[in-house]
Amino acid sequence: MNTPGRITLHDKSFEINIPERQLLQASEILGARISADYKDKKPLFLAILNGAFMFAADLMKEINIPCEISFLRVSSYQDMYSTGQVTEVIGLKEDIRNRHIIILEDIVDTGHTVYALLQNLITKEPASIKIATLLLKPDCVQHPLQVKYIGKSIPNDFVVGYGLDYNGLGRNLRDIYKVIAD
Ligand code: 5GP
Ligand code: MG
Repeated sequence: MNTPGRITLHDKSFEINIPERQLLQASEILGARISADYKDKKPLFLAILNGAFMFAADLMKEINIPCEISFLRVSSYQDMYSTGQVTEVIGLKEDIRNRHIIILEDIVDTGHTVYALLQNLITKEPASIKIATLLLKPDCVQHPLQVKYIGKSIPNDFVVGYGLDYNGLGRNLRDIYKVIAD
């Protein structure tokens, strides 16, 4: 039987955690802040696929200044010839030199993804780079990262919905759900 507010994806059960209303409210607040901070700067938003697509769509509707948006992927793999993790940025066509960049992320967990992306983008000499994330797991940030725009800080639970997936499923959900420990 289905319990209201509960879903099953693959082998795991999830319960509702952040309703759509609160997610839209977070975008509204961030959108107002960013619009004020970037007046006359024509920022270029770079949204990280796949997870940030829904947040990016709702946030953009709250931006009331001239701006551009583009989408990219960050793929991370173990280099066979070194011990380090290699991060590749895919799909960035824009010349970001002298542009004001705002990275849009769904969730910052360890911070590896945005940190590596920042290192990569800095070499292209933008005028500025800031990070906007819908969700932040504050206990997990393992890098000296300044996340300027945070929709909501959450504890260290695995969450899905509103763009975030569990092995491919759940991106279409309107609300954010957290896993129920079994
Ligand atoms: P980080 O590099 O900061 O550790 O993690 C960033 C990426 O890991 C996020 O963009 C997201 O794709 C994935 N991730 C981290 N935590 C979660 C979570 O709780 N749920 C889901 N679905 N993805 C997560
Ligand atoms: Mg992501």
